[in-house]
Amino acid sequence: EKPRIVDDEEGGVLFYTASASSSSGYGFASLEKQRQRLPVYKYRTAILYLVETHATTIVVGETGSGKTTQIPQYLKEAGWAEGGRLIACTQPRRLAVQAVASRVAEEMGVKLGEEVGYTIRFEDVTNNDLTRVKFLTDGVLLREMMDDPLLSKYSVIMVDEAHERSLSTDILLGLLKKIQRRRPELRLIISSATIEAKAMAAFFSTRRHRGPDDIPKKEPAILSVEGRGFNVQIFYVEAPVPDYLRAVVLTVLSIHDKEPMGDILVFLTGQDDIDAAVQLLTEEAQSSRNQGLIVLPLYSGLPRADQDLIFSPTPRGKRKVVMSTNIAETSLTLEGVVYVIDSGFSKQRFYNPITDIENLIVAPVSKASARQRTGRAGRIRPGKCYRLYTEEYFIKEMPADGIPEIQRSNLVSCVIQLKALGIDNILGFDWPASPSPEALIRALEVLYSLGVLDDDAKLTSPAGFQVAEIPLDPMISKMILASIEFGCSEEVITIAAVLSIQSVWFPGRGAQKEMDEAKLRFAAAEGDHVTFLNVYKGFLESGKSSNWCHKNFVNYHAMRKVAEIRLQLRRIAQRLGIVLKSCEGDMQAVRKAITAGFFANACRLEPFSHNGLYKTIRSSQEVYIHPSSVLFRLVQITHYIIVLVHEQLRGTM
Ligand code: ADP
Ligand code: MG
Repeated sequence: EKPRIVDDEEGGVLFYTASASSSSGYGFASLEKQRQRLPVYKYRTAILYLVETHATTIVVGETGSGKTTQIPQYLKEAGWAEGGRLIACTQPRRLAVQAVASRVAEEMGVKLGEEVGYTIRFEDVTNNDLTRVKFLTDGVLLREMMDDPLLSKYSVIMVDEAHERSLSTDILLGLLKKIQRRRPELRLIISSATIEAKAMAAFFSTRRHRGPDDIPKKEPAILSVEGRGFNVQIFYVEAPVPDYLRAVVLTVLSIHDKEPMGDILVFLTGQDDIDAAVQLLTEEAQSSRNQGLIVLPLYSGLPRADQDLIFSPTPRGKRKVVMSTNIAETSLTLEGVVYVIDSGFSKQRFYNPITDIENLIVAPVSKASARQRTGRAGRIRPGKCYRLYTEEYFIKEMPADGIPEIQRSNLVSCVIQLKALGIDNILGFDWPASPSPEALIRALEVLYSLGVLDDDAKLTSPAGFQVAEIPLDPMISKMILASIEFGCSEEVITIAAVLSIQSVWFPGRGAQKEMDEAKLRFAAAEGDHVTFLNVYKGFLESGKSSNWCHKNFVNYHAMRKVAEIRLQLRRIAQRLGIVLKSCEGDMQAVRKAITAGFFANACRLEPFSHNGLYKTIRSSQEVYIHPSSVLFRLVQITHYIIVLVHEQLRGTM
């Protein structure tokens, strides 16, 4: 008989069985003490020695051991940032870049943006004269290579979170390997939370290439930081859960009821289900029995003030519940977590080169991810992890590892960047993991049809170079370029700015109907893009008022961001010689510019389709209008009106 750990008194909905243990952790103290207590501290001399003597050093260590926040500081202390040089540390996620940079600035006792700074797309918090340690996304570092192909201002580049195998990380690794042959003095640190160090070392091994002899030690060094985690007891549900949001809420309440104090970290998939779970739980937390719960969301795009709440210590007598995407899996470490609830899912990108459709879908995580999530519970004392799937599922069905993003992405942006860096033989590029030839060919096809590549698959001049210069999806960049011809660059730049943020609408708030009505106030029959223009116009006319946003279900922070991105895009456009001009309400012009960028996505409404079925022109793929689109409602209304007209005609005849 296995022990039953959690049972809900009212209905007995969730039953957990206990299982084997895993580990990962330590306590609170002054900043300096905290630094010295991190597992990586013992390896300080070793790390510095290896970096001195090896071109590439691979550091593997458990999440929270101090790799990201400490190693750049050690390098700085050892003099790697002297003589005007910089130390770079890349992250796949923007939110992680911001959070880690502000932590390091705090530990060093400096103002963020001076000695320690960060850069993410459309946000540069660095100072040309002062910044010595710079955190940035891997994507931004790739962009910097367009102006400085050898990244000559950096003495050490630390590619962090390499285990995530994000698309930009993989491209970056391929390119850094090339740079290394031209810049023997450059040092690379590849850091990762899991042990695939051997494969990474093999990739960076120079034995396969004949390089100049003055490169320091040719074979990469591997250093493994031993963590000091506490045991984490794992529980599985006895039967699959039909509704994981409900299961999350039940489990949180049950922990809160029965377990000693300690924060709870919940892994969900994205903003939608996180907001829904936060709302469900906040309602429950208002009842007297569940006092003391502080429920917080954590996902990219979260406003700064909300990010700070996540990291601030939990008040005495309270219990923090953080509902997170997989950003808290390895990128960010939250102190105080003792309980982890793992939904077993995350949002992942999947691309099908045959249909040329890229989807963000909710998919099961890998065993490697599940173990990482579990480890987050063992930081300060022995913890507990509740897996919302069965043990049998974990053992028999969960895939061992994830698939590198490069093998499940649309490669249009990737190919144009490599082309812009003068890498013409894309198929022969030395990738850490090879993308599928079909996906590469699709990308070349799209770029050719956009007029970005010529018959020899070289960037066209000037269009190709201009598109590559704009830090947006090539289709959007092309739309901006096309707007010159139609005299609507101001409008199109607004649309491009809105397409760079997650959503202009404020999520749900439990008032779906009111929100739909608010949307309809701005809705344009031309579709979402023109609707965005209406929203932005309303925002400007309100004097950028947060009150106005609130009333109209518009996300205020997102709109501020749009205004900021817009300014930067205008600056880039001016640099590229694009004339800024408004078409003064001529939506025909705007639609033409959009079509010039997005014609490859065109689809046709199927005749006699009653449920709004479209087929793409390129591959006859069946598609529907997404429920979040204003057209979803407008089309319904149009259908309704057509039916009414028919009825009326019949009546008069
Ligand atoms: P690793 O990169 O090995 O996962 P980090 O360097 O990110 O480890 O974390 C080391 C320590 O710094 C952890 O204890 C973590 O909680 C703390 N830390 C990191 N970022 C912040 C932050 N923004 N606020 C408070 N503590 C932080
Ligand atoms: Mg880290």
